[in-house]
Amino acid sequence: MADKFIVIVGGVISGVGKGIATASIGKILQKFGYIITAVKIDPYINYDAGTLRPTEHGEVWVTYDGGEVDQDLGNYERFLGIHLSRYNNITTGQVYDKIIKNERKGKYLGETVQFIPHVPDEIIDRIKIASKDSDICLIEIGGTVGDYENIPFLFAVKSLEKELSKDNVLYVLVSYMPIPSNIGEMKTKPTQQAIKLLNEHGIFPDIILCRGEKPLDDIRRKKIETYANIASEFVISAPDEEILYAIPLNFEKEQLGNKILSKLKLKKIKSPDFLKWEKLVNYIRKPDFNVNVAMVGKYVNIGEFSLKDSYISVNQSLDHAGAHLHTGIKIDWIEAEDIDNYNNAERILSKYNGIVVPGGFGLKGVNGKINAIRYARENKTPYLGLCYGLQLAIVEYSRNVLGIKDANTTENDPDTKNPVIDIIKAQKKIIAESRYGNTMRLGAYCAILKKNSLIYTYFKDMNRIYNIAGIKNYFSGVSDKEKRIGIINSDENNSLVIERHRHRYEVNPNYIERLSKNNLKITGYHRMLDGTILVEFIELDNHPYFVATQAHPEFESSLENPSPLFYGFVKNMLKKS
Ligand code: GLN
Repeated sequence: MADKFIVIVGGVISGVGKGIATASIGKILQKFGYIITAVKIDPYINYDAGTLRPTEHGEVWVTYDGGEVDQDLGNYERFLGIHLSRYNNITTGQVYDKIIKNERKGKYLGETVQFIPHVPDEIIDRIKIASKDSDICLIEIGGTVGDYENIPFLFAVKSLEKELSKDNVLYVLVSYMPIPSNIGEMKTKPTQQAIKLLNEHGIFPDIILCRGEKPLDDIRRKKIETYANIASEFVISAPDEEILYAIPLNFEKEQLGNKILSKLKLKKIKSPDFLKWEKLVNYIRKPDFNVNVAMVGKYVNIGEFSLKDSYISVNQSLDHAGAHLHTGIKIDWIEAEDIDNYNNAERILSKYNGIVVPGGFGLKGVNGKINAIRYARENKTPYLGLCYGLQLAIVEYSRNVLGIKDANTTENDPDTKNPVIDIIKAQKKIIAESRYGNTMRLGAYCAILKKNSLIYTYFKDMNRIYNIAGIKNYFSGVSDKEKRIGIINSDENNSLVIERHRHRYEVNPNYIERLSKNNLKITGYHRMLDGTILVEFIELDNHPYFVATQAHPEFESSLENPSPLFYGFVKNMLKKS
């Protein structure tokens, strides 16, 4: 269990960057030499984020151990460069599920099982488990302090404070300071109310981060100081910032790291060195080069919400690679259905330096995606296919190069005579037994790379090649690690990589031979425990950068350690610019 805990709660409204604030605090403390982990609490009753509507909650993040979790864990991983487990996302659903199972097993020995103490006790247990192997654990509570559904979580952190003493638990309130347009003046009243609500739970914030369009002025700082009864140096101004990764730097301008350490009675382990981070941020802010990317997906607009938000990790991974290559990335979201007719492809796509087909499901827009892939292949435009983007590249290649006209994925045509993409046998059995929720290949898997491939060079450049010992180490502690590692032959040592997955369908092993006869090369694969070969990476020989993966490399990309495939993609886009 961690020695210290920092609880981050939101006041007034949600959606003002609590997750980024949490990730930024973590980054600062990490730079001071501490081992950091982070827990996100989501008060909804769903067991996990896998079944949530993307239009309400945005992207689902996939952890290395196969959890489908809240996208804030993505922020933590991208900032901190660490791997978080599925247990780092706690939901009300998980808490009650465990309590009811315990009750049925008779674990409460005839006691009445009650909201207090059993619910907060279970929450505390989960937080402690998730905090293992860290010095400081950040706990972000979703929503705002006033939400009914947050009551057990606030109760739990207060109990944790009682158990560990106040020196070991710090509270940060992230609050919003609106500037009503008719007054033009920043208002602190909603923050005062949020403080009051927290006080009702016996919680007194140690630090208040004041989010707003503009910096906080001295008058408002003073007001909050008086109201919250904390010294004004702990009231931190957090104005809007376009570049997320600049936020830890902005916080440090107010010495947030030192202030947190002093409150937690900790000393710095080392002097923070933000130089490299600062440089990367500067390259995002003022790049030397620029490229335009066409992201061909389906974008349903629901009210104010656009599905762009569902590709947040892809956007971020492009930025990470761009920062390392001093390149600004401008993404245009192309509605796949607009390219349903191949005649439109040239007009729509010719102005881009590269094309991405990201993950996706189902029939809508599928022809447009296939046409975009054909355009990239024929015109030697750099292409990056992610998951569905690999499956459809296989369909396109089968149809237009191998002449298998009815080649398809059984996702879209279950009766196709040429199921180049299909559900493999083992998976069919699981589905027949209706074990839903476990019908996808989820989380990190080991892949074996061909050493003479283009992608091998990028994985090598980015220090992402593992040997067998490294793979075992990566998966240590994961319950189903044998399955995730698969079979590795001894001559495959030093050509291993890891990427995360979230899909049901695979390249049909029966077609591998036919597919790889010409220019298409299968450059990485996973060998299942039963010996089945699963295609993980493909590339085209006679093309500068036509790379697709069955995985989602966007889940293994952080600012300081970008994804090799994205890096290669941006590098080749630069050549085309
Ligand atoms: N629909 C495809 C599958 O389930 C691809 C999923 C994805 O792109 N994440 O296999």
